[in-house]
Amino acid sequence: MSLQALRGRDLKPPLQPVQERPASSLKDTPPQTKPARAIPRFPVNPQTRAFYRRFFPGTSTAEWNDWRWQMRSRIRGLAELSRIFTLSADERDAAERHQGALPVGITPYYASLMGLDDPTEPLRRTHIMTGDEYRLSPGEGDDPLSEDHDTVVPGIVHRYPDRVLFLTTGTCSTYCRYCTRARVVGNPGGEYQFAMKQWEQALAYLEVHTEVRDVLLSGGDPFTIGDDKLDWLLTRLRAMKHIEFLRIGTKMPIVLPQRITKDFAKMLKKHHPLFISLHVTHPKELTDEMRESTGRLADAGIPLGSQTVLLKGINDDPAVMVPLMQGLLTCRVKPYYLYACDPIRGSAHFRGDVEKGLEIIKALRGHTTGYATPIFAIDAPGGGGKIQIAPDSIVGRNGNDLLLRNFEGKIYSYPDPGGTLGIDKE
Ligand code: SF4
Repeated sequence: MSLQALRGRDLKPPLQPVQERPASSLKDTPPQTKPARAIPRFPVNPQTRAFYRRFFPGTSTAEWNDWRWQMRSRIRGLAELSRIFTLSADERDAAERHQGALPVGITPYYASLMGLDDPTEPLRRTHIMTGDEYRLSPGEGDDPLSEDHDTVVPGIVHRYPDRVLFLTTGTCSTYCRYCTRARVVGNPGGEYQFAMKQWEQALAYLEVHTEVRDVLLSGGDPFTIGDDKLDWLLTRLRAMKHIEFLRIGTKMPIVLPQRITKDFAKMLKKHHPLFISLHVTHPKELTDEMRESTGRLADAGIPLGSQTVLLKGINDDPAVMVPLMQGLLTCRVKPYYLYACDPIRGSAHFRGDVEKGLEIIKALRGHTTGYATPIFAIDAPGGGGKIQIAPDSIVGRNGNDLLLRNFEGKIYSYPDPGGTLGIDKE
């Protein structure tokens, strides 16, 4: 079907996106709470309920469970941060200094899971800026994966032969301080900010590049886009016969699980085969609400995988990561990737030893369900792509036998007559 024909039978014009508030609004006023339309029930865990009664008194459960209310009420300014958190001098100073992209942005729901009086609490460390963010360390850069170099039209990164990254929006519901795209997300008017013209350019590129069989929609977070507009975009992509399947990378089922309304899951279900990668950080995120959101997506037949960034002092410990990976399985999410943190500008305080990642893989492999073990990888700086880092299980050879080390460190041999694998280790 031609692009013209597609336009001709097009869906209704999509609704307006949720608008980003200016990044300069760090000192802005508390959000207004407006009456929201009635929405279906959603679980509210006890800690979160206590939080919203304390900090958002007068807010109804229906409002709290309305994802648009959560987006509008995000904690964006120093005044709001100070109202909810006991800020350290370092956090306060860092928030005051901040300008440009990657503003502070935390949904009230996600804030309810954080340590309000403890600056060292893991989730809080990932979302409230500190002075370390302003220190440039060797090897760091604004675009460590060289995505700009592989950008063929605005929003399309075409690095691998058969698949592309489609940056659909610059908006997220929460802003992670270690974000690989810190240079562009949350920056109103920035180059990756949503614009229909930009989407049309991207779609026109994909129409003619028939070698592309896999499109990963990312951003920003594509789930910040309204239902109708995302439906419209997925429909346009689905209409291209050479695109075999779609993937979406999102953090919203974790930080704003109320986004996964039943209608939204039903809409996504129309676009199979569709896979979703969830950005997960810590076992504290595995709440009743998160289980509801992943359950709705899984019930819509969508395969769910997780992506976790290894973060120093936050989750770089088997005592944290093993329960996280096991817990994800109970939420119907397959642990997929564990990434070393990309060396973006000001990220040294998040990047620990790569060895810690291997230690975690060793603690998982063989010790627990195989499904719970993700791939540990480094996304090679400079655009080299993902490189898997795995414990070396090949010990050497003994004639026709390959010698292997198991998860307990014991050596076993496997008959491999005529093979050469392991000779270099003899
Ligand atoms: S949700 Fe993803 S794109 Fe948005 S700030 Fe976090 S890591 Fe970056």
